[in-house]
Amino acid sequence: MNLLKIGKFIAEQRKKNCLTQMQLAEKLNITDRAVSKWETGKSLPDSSIMLELCQILNISVNDLLSGEVVTMNNYNKELENNLLEMVKQKQEADKRLLRMEILAGVMACVPFTVGIIIGLFVPMEEWKQAVIVLSSMIPLLVAIPFLLRIEQVAGFYECKKCHHQYVPQYKSVFIAPHIGRTRYMKCPQCHKWTWHKKVLSKE
Ligand SMILES: [Zn+2]
Repeated sequence: MNLLKIGKFIAEQRKKNCLTQMQLAEKLNITDRAVSKWETGKSLPDSSIMLELCQILNISVNDLLSGEVVTMNNYNKELENNLLEMVKQKQEADKRLLRMEILAGVMACVPFTVGIIIGLFVPMEEWKQAVIVLSSMIPLLVAIPFLLRIEQVAGFYECKKCHHQYVPQYKSVFIAPHIGRTRYMKCPQCHKWTWHKKVLSKE
């Protein structure tokens, strides 16, 4: 997917519809900075507003992702290419998210480890030990909801029994016992309680 080409195309279509970046941004309830970022090829419009953007610009999502008005002849081919590219990008983004989760997890564990070591091995009054150990847990406690959120939305969980792949609710992930990223949850398809492993691509 060529972001520069898409950006130029958005700018072109915006001007064709006699809109300034500001006016387009207002219609979409976003900042003009975001519009400017698309048009300079720095980012792709978020999927949540892509449809609305295309309606305003009088183009199809397929046109937008191709960076040009797609003719009927190669419409299906372009559509397939764009869909595959979107899936690939989502997988790449998920991979980055999961790597970030590990990094953030490790970073949040550092103060905890240091706190435990100081609390256990440096001689001091008991209440001071307790304060140090408890306060060293704060970064980890703050980080956990974010880490779980990443794990919930990045990729899919696969049921071991029926191989159904899905994105579970945050609550299910939050309360599920786990070994690494493999979680014990109730499958929405076969309704059995079993281990679900994390997979990046849907079959
Ligand atoms: Zn299942």
